[in-house]
Amino acid sequence: MSEETIFTKIINRDIPADIIYEDDQALAFKDVNPQAPFHCLIIPKEPIATANDINENNSAVVGHLYVIAAKLAAEHNFAEDGYRLVMNCNEYGGQSVYHIHLHVLAGKQMGWPPYTDKPKQA
Ligand code: 5GP
Repeated sequence: MSEETIFTKIINRDIPADIIYEDDQALAFKDVNPQAPFHCLIIPKEPIATANDINENNSAVVGHLYVIAAKLAAEHNFAEDGYRLVMNCNEYGGQSVYHIHLHVLAGKQMGWPPYTDKPKQA
């Protein structure tokens, strides 16, 4: 079983979040530190720590996260313009909360590629 994260506290209403979708398997809420005009996170209620832990037994809920993303895109009118769906994995992927979550980013033209080899400025 995964360790409890801040997202379990959001699921259990122990801490507040701007929840925009919920069903028996999943929850979607606005990211507290948005990186786009629309930025929400869609999470399974049953924690899965990282993308490395997705397998044949739990993959149905992962597909469900994408179904919710498509619904939210339609409801919030950014389906046609387009949007970015991201699931970061571990350190190099930039994961900070170890309960998988699909980032839904929309409302601006997204950039690519997502990394640079340029050294950090001192
Ligand atoms: P990661 O870096 O793991 O891909 O994404 C974690 C995301 O969770 C970040 O975008 C961060 O802003 C968001 N986040 C972290 N703590 C909270 C919180 O307490 N509430 C909400 N709504 N978002 C959070």
